[in-house]
Amino acid sequence: ASTKPEIIMTGPLMAYAADQLKARFTVHELWNAPDRAALLREVSGRVRGVAAGGGHNRVDGALFDALPKIEVVSSFGVGYDHVDAAEAGRRGLVVTNTPDVLTDEVADLALGLLISTVRQLPQVDRYLREGKWLKGNYPLTTSLRGRKVGIVGLGRIGKAVAQRIEAFGLPVVYHGRTRQPDVAYRYYPSLVEMAADVDTLISVAPGGASTHHIINAEVLKALGPNGIVVNVGRGTVIDEQALIKALQDKTILSAGLDVFEDEPRVPAELIAIEHAVLLPHVGSASVHTREAMGQLLVDNLVSWFDGKGPLTPVSETPWKKA
Ligand code: NDP
Repeated sequence: ASTKPEIIMTGPLMAYAADQLKARFTVHELWNAPDRAALLREVSGRVRGVAAGGGHNRVDGALFDALPKIEVVSSFGVGYDHVDAAEAGRRGLVVTNTPDVLTDEVADLALGLLISTVRQLPQVDRYLREGKWLKGNYPLTTSLRGRKVGIVGLGRIGKAVAQRIEAFGLPVVYHGRTRQPDVAYRYYPSLVEMAADVDTLISVAPGGASTHHIINAEVLKALGPNGIVVNVGRGTVIDEQALIKALQDKTILSAGLDVFEDEPRVPAELIAIEHAVLLPHVGSASVHTREAMGQLLVDNLVSWFDGKGPLTPVSETPWKKA
């Protein structure tokens, strides 16, 4: 009989990570089960860990009830909206995520998306491919020059974005719930006041109730007609309907979005806005970075079952480093 610890995978993971899990653990694939309830009943007394991968099936109290021997949930990605970490914390369960290893990749993407939006790179590329250059030059675009950037959520990724913006020669300010002690950028406790003072917003805030729709119609109006909104955090941070209206009636100039409220569904009204730049949530989606994230997901489970504790527990997890 196998002595490997048993874990459940709630969604698919890249082979790079899944193969390592299968070598080290007995793995049950929940999303592949023809009858999920039957699988849960069958493994209920044995499964001690969860690998929460793609597909974003919820990991919550219902799953913890079904699998009462769970000790640890290792989640893929730094954002873990699909895991009820507060409930896990109440039950004394450890939740881990994959911070830091994706910070530079997502910050790079944020700058690429900002420049793509301001200089209309996707549209200009289409112009060439459609043979329109032969008939004349693309119209002049707006510019990054002279812009002032307000970052919403100056955490790990937000700080990496700020460094890049500085390197591009633009001033940076930020909004969050608290002032960051380790930076000199001006802090705005009020998002609407920051929006009034800048023309470019970059959101890198997490999802969840406390950030839901904080970028709303009032904030967009304060940002003004030269305003650009870039979102690489979570779609729920922006009131998407208010954003669509602000783009349609030119309350703001444009938007570059990597995340949406109801992924992978993107409203037709947004797709119809030709000058907006829309990406299918690819912030961390390079081979290099996805492998690093997969490795950290594996390493958290291995460390836990080796009795060495979690490597990167989330803030809701009651865990103190020895
Ligand atoms: P951090 O936890 O380091 O940073 C999050 C920041 O958001 C903190 O500075 C926090 O500051 C701020 N914040 C939290 N709650 C609020 C609030 N209610 N209002 C305003 N600001 C708030 O996380 P990371 O930088 O590592 O990642 C940030 C997010 O980026 C992830 O949660 C994820 O959702 C998203 N992400 C998106 C990716 C993509 O592919 N597009 C890839 C990776 C991450 P404070 O507590 O002071 O408010």
